[in-house]
Amino acid sequence: MKGANYIDGRWVDGAVPFDTVNPSDLDEIVGHYSKVGEAEVREAMAAARRAQPAWGAFNMQARADILHKVADLIKSRAQDIGLLLSREEGKTLPEGVGEALRAAQCFQYAAGDVVRAQGEWYNSMRDGFNVLVTREPVGVVAAITPWNFPIALPSWKVAGALAFGNSVVLKPSSFVPGCAVMLAQILEEAGVPAGVFNLVMGDGRATGNVMIDEADALTFTGGTATGRTVLTRAAETMTKCQLELGGKNALVVLDDADLDLAVDIASNGAWIQTGQRCTGTERLIVTRGIHDAFVERMAKVAAGYRVGHALDADTQIGPVANAPQFNENLQFVVDARAEGAEVAAGGGAVEGRTRGLFMAPTLLVGTKPEWRCNQHESFGPIASVVMVEDLDEAIHAANACEYKLSSGIATTSLKNAERFRKASQAGMVTVNAPTAGLEYHVPLGGRAPSGYGARETGASTAEFFTESKTSYINHGAI
Ligand code: NAD
Repeated sequence: MKGANYIDGRWVDGAVPFDTVNPSDLDEIVGHYSKVGEAEVREAMAAARRAQPAWGAFNMQARADILHKVADLIKSRAQDIGLLLSREEGKTLPEGVGEALRAAQCFQYAAGDVVRAQGEWYNSMRDGFNVLVTREPVGVVAAITPWNFPIALPSWKVAGALAFGNSVVLKPSSFVPGCAVMLAQILEEAGVPAGVFNLVMGDGRATGNVMIDEADALTFTGGTATGRTVLTRAAETMTKCQLELGGKNALVVLDDADLDLAVDIASNGAWIQTGQRCTGTERLIVTRGIHDAFVERMAKVAAGYRVGHALDADTQIGPVANAPQFNENLQFVVDARAEGAEVAAGGGAVEGRTRGLFMAPTLLVGTKPEWRCNQHESFGPIASVVMVEDLDEAIHAANACEYKLSSGIATTSLKNAERFRKASQAGMVTVNAPTAGLEYHVPLGGRAPSGYGARETGASTAEFFTESKTSYINHGAI
């Protein structure tokens, strides 16, 4: 794969070349790319500024048709995109292809948004007046994305922004820019006019600062620490912000849970996709009566996974996506042990047939809610178990963490489920389902510091990607 930046309809090589490596096989280079400097990022922002008014006024049907075409092209190339994703990020091939198909669905949904966009009409208290509330594009959107969903995440941001008549400059994570390059190729092929969509690869802070300063709105997904930095920067220019940030999601398992189901959803949430989902389960809060049976079953499931090269047909859990994250994960377990956690499964690296970043699905037990391992996001295949006495203590433990993204409960009691759903401070709650695994037609996001500003996807898309205008019309007495 050789991928360039895409600025004002032109493919541009930057001055600083960089390569990506396959986390399943560190001896394999996957892509050759180049980073642009601040001047080129400014050029991309200026191109987006010039192109936006015409795109905002673009014929509604024509804009929807283009987004449908993007969806069709992504679908027709889902295998290629999924393969590149697997090689660059480390998801298994079915997960990679599945993510590509999700990206196509996001564009399909956005195409519908173009023609669904609505306003409101009010009677006025003043005789002879009407009041209209309409939505207009917010303008130039800066989109900054992390490495864990290299095609779906840029797609739902770009699709939503374009649907509502905005222009976009996208900066993907330098660990996984390949899918963003493929997306840019598809947008060009589908007929998105020059300057309406731009792709820049660059260092986070330098590139990000120019984007934040020059944009009307920033849609950012990444870690909470980075989120705080970008929010501080955005305050200077009062750039509208939507931040989707870290999580430390808790699944409560009550004595009355269906044990098979509880183990199924807990293991899915904790370890599938190598635990690299912002909504993945990192804390398992389990009542005393079911604790031992649950831990025993979870340890067995963890030990039974086939961890390995993302492209091997029998692999269930691919590698950790990059070396810094891999080292952080291993250190996380060391630190957890030091504070008293016992390792019931996994805990370290796994040998593979290639030189990859393979880590065993890990289960920590005997932990306390206030320990670092239950407060600090690990973002890997690691879950820690906290034993509690009852639902009250479980609710308290689940909420006793600064992150507030997703949470869940396994119970056969409707009453317990409803109590938890209401008491949870997370932005998303699941009942008898994994804390991860979201749909594109409903809002996604958490409360601060897991999120800030309007939620993403579904009906929230319009809230973030438009500005509302209230108009008083004096048509005179009729
Ligand atoms: P990260 O914060 O390190 O980087 C995210 C993006 O920000 C990258 O493109 C990076 O280059 C850029 N960046 C870095 N410094 C910047 C700066 N000063 N200004 C502007 N941009 C800057 O995150 P990551 O390691 O790529 O991703 C993992 C994190 O993302 C985890 O914390 C995870 O929970 C979070 N995440 C959250 C959601 C959600 O919806 N809440 C979804 C996916 C991932």
